[in-house]
Amino acid sequence: MSRGEAPERTRDEWAARAEALELPSLAWIDGRPQPAASGATVACRGPADGRLLVEVAACDTADVDRAVAGARRAFSSGVWSELHPRERGRVLIRFADLIEAEREDLALMETLDVGKPIRYSGVVDVHHAAQAIRWYGEAIDKIYGEVAPTSPSALGTVTREPLGVVAAVLPWNFPLMMTSWKLGPALAAGCSVVLKPAEQTPLTALRLARLAQSAGLPDGVLQVVPGFGETAGQALGRHPDVDAVTFTGSTETGKRFLEYSGQSNMKRISLETGGKSPNIIFADAPDLAFAARQAAFGVFYNTGAMCNAGSRLLVERSVVDQVTTQLEAMAQKLGPGHPLDPRTRLGPVIDEAQMEKILGYVSAGQQAGARLRLGGERVLGELGGHYIGPTVFDRVSPEMSIAREEIFGPVVTIIPFDGADEAVRLANDTDYGLAAAVWTRDLSRAHTVARRLRAGTVWVNNFDTSEISTPFGGYRQSGFGGRDKSLHALDKYTELKTTWVNLTGPGARPPDAAT
Ligand code: NAD
Repeated sequence: MSRGEAPERTRDEWAARAEALELPSLAWIDGRPQPAASGATVACRGPADGRLLVEVAACDTADVDRAVAGARRAFSSGVWSELHPRERGRVLIRFADLIEAEREDLALMETLDVGKPIRYSGVVDVHHAAQAIRWYGEAIDKIYGEVAPTSPSALGTVTREPLGVVAAVLPWNFPLMMTSWKLGPALAAGCSVVLKPAEQTPLTALRLARLAQSAGLPDGVLQVVPGFGETAGQALGRHPDVDAVTFTGSTETGKRFLEYSGQSNMKRISLETGGKSPNIIFADAPDLAFAARQAAFGVFYNTGAMCNAGSRLLVERSVVDQVTTQLEAMAQKLGPGHPLDPRTRLGPVIDEAQMEKILGYVSAGQQAGARLRLGGERVLGELGGHYIGPTVFDRVSPEMSIAREEIFGPVVTIIPFDGADEAVRLANDTDYGLAAAVWTRDLSRAHTVARRLRAGTVWVNNFDTSEISTPFGGYRQSGFGGRDKSLHALDKYTELKTTWVNLTGPGARPPDAAT
C-alpha cells in the first residue's frame, strides 16, 4: 500500500476541525438513521486520549432482524439486484466520487475512531476505499458468462447470479478499507449487504451508508448495524435469511462463524483472518538498508495492527546484526505520537484490552528467554491513550509464543537462519499463511522460495505492496472461502448457474444425454 505525505494542516487545526465534525451515532436501516430497538448504546472512545467521541446505537437481534428483512425486501424487489450492471456501476462510481469529495472528514473520522495518524488516513485509507469502490463499479459491466463446450444438440451456459443478502462483519484495524473491499464486489454483484463494523470503530461505516444513498443506492440495499460481536455479530451469523457472511477478523471469531453456519442455514462463509507473516531477508538483498527500513514499516505501520504484518523477521545469519541495527534506527524514528499531529507515523493502540494483550506477550517473550532490545512498554501516558513504541526482540526461538501467535501490536521477532531450506522451513512453521516476503537479488532463489512459501501473497524485494487488481487472502488458518480484492472477490458474492438447453426440439431425446 502506498504511504503518502502529510496533509498541510497543523495538529491544532485538525483538532479544531474535529470539534466541529458531526459524528454519526445511529444504525442505518432502510435508508435512514435509527436507534437500537432496545435504546442501548456503546461508548465510542478515541484511542488518542480515551475521550468519549459519541454514544453509538448498540444493535442486537431485534435490529438485525429488521435490517435483514429490509435487505431481503430490497433484494427480492430487484431494485438493485436486477438493475443493468452498467447502472449499478454508475452508482458505485458516484459513491466513490463522494468518498473522495469527503476525504478530509472521513480521514479525520477514521483518525479519531481508530487512532490512525492523520498523515495516512486520507492518502491511504480514504484513497484506497474510494479506489476499491470505483474499480468494481467500472468492472461490473465488462464481465461475461460462459458457454460450455457441448454437442450441437444442446446449449450449456454458465452465468453468475447475485447471492442475496450478505452480512459483512468487520474488524477495527482498517475500517474504511476492509468495508470497501466487501462493499465494492458485493454491491457490484447485485447483493444487499448488512454491515456490522467492529464495536470499537463504527463511525466511517455509518457515514459511508449515507454517502451510498446520496450516490443513488436504493434504500435497504446497504444496512449498517453497529454493535457487539456476541450480540449483533452472532445474530447475523445465525440468521436464517442471511445467505452469506463475509468476515474479516480474528481466526478465533472466524471459527465461530463456521459453527453458526452449521447450526443455522449453512450460509456461505468466507474468512479473512489472522496472520504471522514471515519476512525473509537474504544477505544478497538488493539493498539491505532499504529491506530493513521496509521491514520496520511492514510490522510497525498501523501500530502493528495489520493482519499481514511481517512480525517474524527471518534474517540470514551473516547480516542479522546489520539488519537489526538498521531496523532499530528506523523504529526509533517512528516513535509514537498523537495521531492528529501530521508528523506522527505511529499512533496509539486501539484500547486498553489490546494494550494489555501486547504487553502480556512482551512479558511472555522475556520469560521465555528472548531479548527485548527496544520498546515493550507503555509510553506517553500523559496523553491519556494507550501508546506502545516499536518493540524489537532477538534471541527468539521459533517455539516461543511471541514467534507463533498473532500479537497485533508493534512487535517484531528477529530469527536468524542459514540457507534457503532453513528459511523456508521456519517461514512455513506456522498455523497461518496470509503473506510472506523474500529479499534476494538471486532471481531463481526468489522464485523457488516464493513457490515453496505457504502464503496467499508473497512479495519479492518489497513488503505490503499491492493494488486492488490482485487477490488478497490466506492459506491455512488465515482464512478460506474466497479472496478479497480483484475479480476473484466476485466469487464470494455470486452463485454459478448452469442452464442446459435442449436444442433438438420438443420431446426429442438429445443423442448424448446420459439418462
Ligand atoms: P475480532 O475477531 O475480535 O472481531 C472482528 C469482528 O467480529 C468484529 O466486528 C466483532 O464485533 C465480531 N465478533 C467478535 N466476536 C464475535 C462473536 N462471538 N460472534 C460474532 N461476531 C463476533 O477481530 P478484531 O480484533 O476486530 O480484528 C483483528 C483481527 O482481524 C486480527 O486477527 C487480524 O489479523 C484480522 N484481520 C484480518 C484481515 C485479513 O484480510 N486476513 C484483515 C484485517 C484484520
